[in-house]
Amino acid sequence: MTFSRIHLPSFIYLYDGGQARTLSLTEIEQYLRTKLRKTQIKIRDDFITHYLSRVSEEGRARAVEGLARAIAFTKVQDLENPKAPSEPAYGEIEYEKRRIMRRESKSFGILYHAFRLQTVFSSLLLGEELSDDQIHIIFTNQLFGTWDENDRRFHARVSVYGIPSLISTTGIVEAPAKPREFYLLKQQYGLSGGDNLTIQKLKEKFKGRFIDYEDERLTEIMKGYVLQAIFFQALGEPFCDHKGCRLYNAHWQEEVIEAQLGAQYEFCKKHEKILMEL
Ligand SMILES: [Zn+2]
Repeated sequence: MTFSRIHLPSFIYLYDGGQARTLSLTEIEQYLRTKLRKTQIKIRDDFITHYLSRVSEEGRARAVEGLARAIAFTKVQDLENPKAPSEPAYGEIEYEKRRIMRRESKSFGILYHAFRLQTVFSSLLLGEELSDDQIHIIFTNQLFGTWDENDRRFHARVSVYGIPSLISTTGIVEAPAKPREFYLLKQQYGLSGGDNLTIQKLKEKFKGRFIDYEDERLTEIMKGYVLQAIFFQALGEPFCDHKGCRLYNAHWQEEVIEAQLGAQYEFCKKHEKILMEL
């Protein structure tokens, strides 16, 4: 890798839509300042709220309507069918409207198509905000996924990188697999996922080995994902093969924990060196 290819943008925007008590964007911002001394980092409101704040009063109702429709269109309707979705139902659009107006803060069991959602968000970046001198990192509690051609189904993801990058606080809980024994025991108990008490017991047994909602380690873990988004834009490659490096592309919860919290060091030698350059 030649360092001359590195182009670190001058501005990084972090959008605060993760809806998790344990996620502190201020702490992530401070952390980034220690790593990237030449870059300006700004925290903004939730991405859509930020967008709407710049739409005129008269145009807002129409913008909300259009946006709700566009987002409802990105819902995955069939986990085993990659085809573009059909027209969303009235209720689905209304639900998205409530989310946009922040009258609904929870994200109920909906999987969105990651790249389609990213395209909708990208269309909201205006003029100069689209320049490659800026990185937009959107935290959301929406769960999104991508189609996997190998087993022909959608899989939930923690993040997708690009302009903008999306990181999901629901995805970090739902996407990487829990320890194998967790599933074995769950199966042994004959659960279909409905028995909350037993799930709670299982979670207790595996405490610390997976990431839960409102996990106290969430901010620390998310620092690595933010850096992956930055590396994607600066170098075109967000990931590292090194299991102890924060840029490791983890598929298991235990790998996430190892990469983001476990190792004695934050980055492998190569990425440590690149960060020094930045
Ligand atoms: Zn690395």
